Order: sequence, then C-alpha cells, then structure tokens
Amino acid sequence: MSDTRQVTIIGSGPAGLTAAIYTARANLEPLVLEGEPSSTSDQPGGQLMLTTDVENFPGFPEGIMGPELMMHFRSQAERFGATMLTRKVAKVDLTASPHKVWIDSGDKPEPDYTATAVIIATGAQSLMLGLPNETELIGHGLSTCATCDGFFFRDQEIAVIGGGDSAMEEAMFLTRFASKVTIIHRREELRASKIMQDRAMANDKIEFLWNTQVTGYLGDGKLSGVTTENTVTGETGEMALSGLFIAIGHKPGTALFTDWLDIKENGYLVTEPDSSITKIPGVFACGDVVDDYYRQAITAAGSGCMAAIDAERWLETLHD
Ligand code: NAP
Repeated sequence: MSDTRQVTIIGSGPAGLTAAIYTARANLEPLVLEGEPSSTSDQPGGQLMLTTDVENFPGFPEGIMGPELMMHFRSQAERFGATMLTRKVAKVDLTASPHKVWIDSGDKPEPDYTATAVIIATGAQSLMLGLPNETELIGHGLSTCATCDGFFFRDQEIAVIGGGDSAMEEAMFLTRFASKVTIIHRREELRASKIMQDRAMANDKIEFLWNTQVTGYLGDGKLSGVTTENTVTGETGEMALSGLFIAIGHKPGTALFTDWLDIKENGYLVTEPDSSITKIPGVFACGDVVDDYYRQAITAAGSGCMAAIDAERWLETLHD
C-alpha cells in the first residue's frame, strides 16, 4: 500500500525546504524525499552542504556556515509538520493521478508513495575536475561560485578554469576583488560568446593561460596552487594560487524526469514563465533544476516559495 500525500517534495536544498516550510504551514503535511548522503557530503541538503561561509544569505549579518544554514531550513520545515525521509527517489510516474514515486528501486510494481502534487527541487551540480582532494578544498581556496566567494580574495592572485561564458563572467566579477585573475583554458579558442570574450580580453586584470589543464591541487587543508599540463606539448608545471574557481558548467538533476517533462536544450526543466508550473497538472519545479541564470541559495529559496504557493492554489482548484 502506498503512502498518499497531498504534496511530495523531491529534493532538500533551499528550494525544496522552502517549499516544505510553506506547504507545511498551509497544513498540507508535505513529505520531503531529501536524498541520501553522497560521496561529497554526509548529509543531503544540496550545494550548501559543500559550502563553508555563506555571507550573502539575508538575515545572517555575521554570515553562517552552509551546512548550518541547511539545518535551520530543515528544522523549520519539521517544526510545521513536514516529514523528512532520507531516501533517494528511484523512479516517478507523473502521468498517473495521483503521481507515483518509487524510492530505492523502481522495479516494484507498486510505488512507495503517491502524491496529488509533486514539487521537484532536485537542484544542479557544478561540474568538477574530479581530482584528488577536490571536495576537501571546496571552501578552502577552491570554489564554484564567484558571487558567493569572490569577496574572500581581495588583493590576491587567483584563477578561473573554463572557456565558456560562465568562466568569462566569473573572471570579470572576480577582478573587483583580486589583483590578478588567470583564466586557465584547455584549448586555444574560447567557447564563450564574442562579446564576453572581448570584455574579458579588454580587462587589464585578466590574463589567459591557453592549452592548459589543471592536473592536481596543491596545499594541505587550504589551496596553495595547482599542477598543470600543457595539452599540446605535454609540458608540466606548477602555479601558486590562493584561490581557484571552477567554471566548467553545471548539470541539473533532471534524470528522473526526462520521460515526462520538457527539458531545455541546456538540460534544465521547462516551467511556465515566472512560475513553477510544468506541463503536467500538479507537477511543479523550482530552484536550480530550472534556473540556469541566477543559481543562488536565496533565489532557489524564493522559487521554492513560489512552487509551494502554486501547488497550494492548484490543490484548492480541485475542491472547487
Ligand atoms: P559551457 O559553455 O559548457 O563551457 C564550459 C567550458 O568549460 C568550456 O570552455 C569547456 O572547454 C570547459 N571545460 C569543460 N569540462 C572541462 C574540464 N574537465 N576541464 C577543463 N575545462 C573544461 O558552460 P558555461 O560557461 O557554464 O555556460 C553554460 C551556458 O550558459 C552557455 O550556453 C552559456 O552561453 C550560458 N551562459 C551565459 C552567460 C551570459 O550570457 N552572461 C553567462 C554564463 C553562462 P571546451 O571549450 O574545450 O569544451
């Protein structure tokens, strides 16, 4: 027998947990399938679980550690009656009404949970290089978000990896703080749009290191530099750095939904403009799984609130 809910939320980052707070306070008793610990984090909770100081989340004038912030989100949702389940969703069937959700394995004929409304908040992951010590160094010199961490690198020499628009944008933003920003790119040609390339190249504080792949991180507990390899000549080297920003793209968590929902060319879920409504009635999406532009905890939280209100109003229409 499946457990049936009015609202089931998939994901437990700022978007999912804000949706949980709002739907719980609307007496909808949401179930949050929060995911499971991963190789990069011993708790689910999204990208903030990998972040150290968060200084740009309103309400914390002294800043707060990412995992602590997520614990606050979680206990606030629980306080109003959200049920948290630390399990991974294996399969969904979004055409059925109520919608069906399987956890652990999708092989069973009957789903584990059914829900009238489903809020998808499965987030996105920054692509990483996959080098040793990468996870440990995040927040200790290694970052995936210039907006979040640029402030910590005032007057320092730092680098950005990547050759796309994100790398150009991150590098330009970082020149507000750093004394020098080196863009390390594995080829000799940028993937970024012409206008972004021109802006980065015209910036006196930006230098380019072409045909170069970072092959390792230096530093014990805190990044002090990188080892490099020239992708054309094979020549190896070392570079001293106090900060390194990885800007090689993002992967939204859409794998469960590709059979059911529309996906943009860049992999993000499609919702109606300025709303969380997807093409399937009763299915809403919010946070970084739909946002390829802002990618901030506060915007994800705001969009989780929108999804909760959209779900709540849609559920009300069923009683009309
Ligand atoms: P992207 O366009 O996919 O570029 C990723 C870059 O990272 C590429 O230069 C790629 O190198 C490099 N890369 C990938 N894997 C790597 C690895 N393992 N080691 C080293 N380098 C690696 O991603 P994005 O820059 O995040 O942009 C995503 C989309 O958002 C794009 O459509 C972009 O136009 C858009 N965007 C727009 C703006 C804006 O207009 N303001 C800002 C940000 C993003 P190769 O070039 O060799 O493949």
